[in-house]
Amino acid sequence: MSDLRDLYQEVILDHSKKPRNFGKPAHVNHMAQGHNPLCGDRVTIYLDLAEDGRVKAVTFEGSGCAISMASASIMTEMLKGKTVTEAKALFDKFHGVVTGEDADLTAADGEDLDRLEALSGVREFPMRVKCATLAWHTFIAATEDRREQVVTE
Ligand code: ZN
Repeated sequence: MSDLRDLYQEVILDHSKKPRNFGKPAHVNHMAQGHNPLCGDRVTIYLDLAEDGRVKAVTFEGSGCAISMASASIMTEMLKGKTVTEAKALFDKFHGVVTGEDADLTAADGEDLDRLEALSGVREFPMRVKCATLAWHTFIAATEDRREQVVTE
């Protein structure tokens, strides 16, 4: 089990050092900003949503701890091509995993399983759950065109 844990930490370090989908895309039709004052994490989510509700592009900019940046990077990889409905279902799952309320990931979660698992270690550190979920909360806010900054408390 400790080997697996090391692997997952490697995933987090890799994504935080080399964030995927970092920057502002050419075409954006939704965006939102999030702030986690407990840790100082800041993230802006840029979203290009197709008319059928599918995510054409999702990128982010921001600064913060490794968990927050890795989570945002992993999230953007997971959400491309998904519908907003699918994305919200995934967030429910992810939230359950990082808070420890729902640790029952199954094979049906497919390729997303590994990525969700990578961040499941934060459940042992309640303060870091907000770091891990900041990008997701901000993504949801972007899909709903909420203007005010998302602040995790
Ligand atoms: Zn943080």
